[in-house]
Amino acid sequence: MTIKEFHEALKNKKTSVKGTIVSYLDKIKKENKNLNAYLEVFAEESMARAEDIDKRIEEGEEPLELLGVPIAMKDNILIRGHIASAASKILGNYVASYDAFVIEKLKKAGVIFLGRTNMDEFAMGSSTENSAYGPARNPFDSERVPGGSSGGSAAAVGGGLAMAALGSDTGGSIRQPAAFCGVVGLKPTYGAVSRSGLIAMASSLDQIGPIAQSVEDAETIFNIISGKDGLDSTSTELGDHGAKPQKRPGRQADKIGVPKEYFSEGLDLRIKKSIDDIIGKLSKDHEIIEISLPHTKYALDCYYIIVPAEVSSNMARYDGIRYGARQNAPDLLDVYKKSRGEGIGLEVRRRILLGTYVLSHGYYDAYYSRAQKVRALIKKDFDEVFKKPARDATPASNASRSDTGWHSVVGGVDVIVAPTTPSLPFKIGEKSDPLSMYLSDIYTIPANLAGIPALSLPIGKIDNLPVGMQLIAPHFGERRLFGLGREIEKMIK
Ligand code: GLN
Repeated sequence: MTIKEFHEALKNKKTSVKGTIVSYLDKIKKENKNLNAYLEVFAEESMARAEDIDKRIEEGEEPLELLGVPIAMKDNILIRGHIASAASKILGNYVASYDAFVIEKLKKAGVIFLGRTNMDEFAMGSSTENSAYGPARNPFDSERVPGGSSGGSAAAVGGGLAMAALGSDTGGSIRQPAAFCGVVGLKPTYGAVSRSGLIAMASSLDQIGPIAQSVEDAETIFNIISGKDGLDSTSTELGDHGAKPQKRPGRQADKIGVPKEYFSEGLDLRIKKSIDDIIGKLSKDHEIIEISLPHTKYALDCYYIIVPAEVSSNMARYDGIRYGARQNAPDLLDVYKKSRGEGIGLEVRRRILLGTYVLSHGYYDAYYSRAQKVRALIKKDFDEVFKKPARDATPASNASRSDTGWHSVVGGVDVIVAPTTPSLPFKIGEKSDPLSMYLSDIYTIPANLAGIPALSLPIGKIDNLPVGMQLIAPHFGERRLFGLGREIEKMIK
């Protein structure tokens, strides 16, 4: 059942919360051994909450839309009184002393947390193989990865082990696993959802977002978890931004941009065909235009300077003293070395080293500052494509210079469509060198660098493996994503 179906059934007394929770717990018991989607299941707590909610409904309480909804939580989001390990050994015994902002909001809405889900350690990875607690598996083929880093959350929803889940997305960690597991995933606008209580990876990119079975469910969760929070100064009220699809007078159709850089070499041709089919169908009601985002080719390089830099700084707190399991040693430096050496896995270590290097004196300007400049150019590509053209603008007056030469700026695009991933879910162990793993986020990283919202939704299967399509909108354009997302959902039903 989707959240919406469950809510209807609950309102009409066709189902009980307890019955629903019992059936999820049963399924988890049977299937989680194989999937390894959950690191811990809050069985007793979930049952107690369910009984309490059923009682309240019996006594006449009108159910809110998320009341009693069983949700899985990525293990880097703090739930007071529960372990939050970020799938790292170093936080294996860390118990959260407060609720994340999103948890507070969901608790108020009456959600039931089924458990905490597997992920790549500290959210660094694209396959959940970097978990200190073993890889999670894809519900469609257990030889394959569910994607990552929110692989446990996506596998739980895709495999029917949760009605919905939360994940976090720094470079694709909600959208890529959503695509691999046949579910919907939203990376909100940077600042739309508070990061308070999210274990930080790269703070200028991290966002929490929903993973759900339908666009409508994702929207319902997003509406609850978004908004300004005093504990995250980058968070803001969504307000009316993009509340209504911003259509120009006299024209009802969206202008949909198809960026040629997202359809080039490296994309599985079968995925390309699936996306092209949808674009073909969309062209009946919308204006489709080819666009160029010329700095896309630098996105991965730029990301892998900025992310390690922020990671190296954010990871400094896990020293066995302030946070993390402590290994005792005769002097302080050895305590740090031993605690970090034993508690932190290889990929995280790689990024700490790389980040420390790019931030070091003498290299800062060559790497970090330059990457920030490239990031600004990547953002500018999107700004120009989304910019509403001035009435009298001609292509010539609207043209700009990039290092690829002059290109005329189209402008006025409402939503961009693209693949979410270049390949179908890959086999566990298949991508053993870091670079080939990094490449699986090539289409998702630019939206994080630009801070704009992006949604992945399932558009079908190839060889029984799910295919995801990505929709990208300007800042605070979440409503446009939901609108077009629902339209595409209807097309494929
Ligand atoms: N796979 C990307 C990385 O390893 C993205 C991770 C994420 O979004 N948390 O950095």
